[in-house]
Amino acid sequence: MKTKPVLFGSKFSFIFSCLFFLLTQMSRASLIICGPSGVGKSSIISAICGRFPSRVALSVSHTSRQPRPGEKHGVDYFFMTPDAMLRDIEKKAFLEYAHVHNNIYGTSRSSVDTILDKGMLPILDVDRNGVQSIKAVPGFEAKYVFIAPPSFDVLHKRLSARATENDEDMHVRLNNAKSELDYGTTKGNFDRVIVNADLDESVDQLTETMIDWFPWISQGQT
Ligand code: 5GP
Repeated sequence: MKTKPVLFGSKFSFIFSCLFFLLTQMSRASLIICGPSGVGKSSIISAICGRFPSRVALSVSHTSRQPRPGEKHGVDYFFMTPDAMLRDIEKKAFLEYAHVHNNIYGTSRSSVDTILDKGMLPILDVDRNGVQSIKAVPGFEAKYVFIAPPSFDVLHKRLSARATENDEDMHVRLNNAKSELDYGTTKGNFDRVIVNADLDESVDQLTETMIDWFPWISQGQT
């Protein structure tokens, strides 16, 4: 008699595991995050990945830009030469790519597939051209979030405080921010817009939205 509950328990956990596996395999969805440079996307994404370490992962992009101090190859980006990026574009290795702030950035198909194949939710951090390209990929299932600054002035101050760009790069990034903001705040372009006035609040808001869209990410967290 004593073995029954154990048997029932193991059967139950087997069925639960199968259902969970099927559920995650059925929803091979991704989360796309867009927002102007300096708005705080990286901090928000890394906090979200920290909250769901076994369910959500950043799809690490490729870029031809130089690493900033402290950035690691394979963690922040795969840092490539422009030629190597162009070769990979030729080989159709990228799901999408774009010329952003005078550099090339791209999401490799393998980065996204590796995460999806683990039954996890990939987060893609892309610019507005990336968003448009991904929307045009047939059958690619995704939800789109735009992160906006409380104001253009605040964005300017955050970029200056970050001090990672020279004056020319800063000028380019601020100029691009205007068109990103126009696109991001145009109705219908994104499923959700979050104004990042406070990091913790933005992370809470995004967490809530993600659980609503992808309820399985909060189940069985290890
Ligand atoms: P940063 O140089 O500040 O890391 O990134 C500059 C911009 O490039 C950011 O707005 C970021 O969203 C965008 N970006 C980063 N990775 C990708 C990518 O793989 N594809 C596209 N289209 N944009 C990207």
